Amino acid sequence: MTRDAQPAVFLDRDGTINTDIGYLNHPDQVELIPRAGAAIRLLNAAGFKTIVITNQAGIARGLIQEQRVPDIHQKLVNLLKEDGARIDGFYYCPHHPEGVIEKYRIECQCRKPLPGMVRRAVNDFGIDLSCSFVIGDKSCDVELAHTVGAKAIMVMTGYGRIEFDRHTQAMLTPPDHTAADLYDAVQWILNDSGIIF
Ligand SMILES: [Mg+2]
Repeated sequence: MTRDAQPAVFLDRDGTINTDIGYLNHPDQVELIPRAGAAIRLLNAAGFKTIVITNQAGIARGLIQEQRVPDIHQKLVNLLKEDGARIDGFYYCPHHPEGVIEKYRIECQCRKPLPGMVRRAVNDFGIDLSCSFVIGDKSCDVELAHTVGAKAIMVMTGYGRIEFDRHTQAMLTPPDHTAADLYDAVQWILNDSGIIF
């Protein structure tokens, strides 16, 4: 990467950082996947902007109350802080074209694999996507990475194993790497970026 380029790692939330329990709707339900805090601490130390991008269609479906989202993210921040880790920004998509809540029942530009959330973060943080990465447990995370010109790492936590098969069967562009979990994904990124601690 060039000297002043700002790299970022875009992290999916459920199934990548915290356990995916399906339509997580309360801060008490937030539980970190083992080694997630240590992984994010490494990204912070290496100078990557660490950005969460998460589809929360449960809001459109009436299964998640949007006003709880800030509290859920604060809980995640608190848990990560115990591991010395920091998230630089959170972006979520509340929409779904088949939602039951009218204001969120739209064909938006932010629901992954569409790049709306990444575009906003690039604008907010001055990120260079050519030296950036997306880590997630679903096919949409991989597609998103390749749409925006970043590298994709698929983790085998959450829906990772099922989704990897689905992704392969659909003959979509494969992830640049598959990793057991977020920590392994970050190790690969540090190697790929030539960063040595
Ligand atoms: Mg996920």
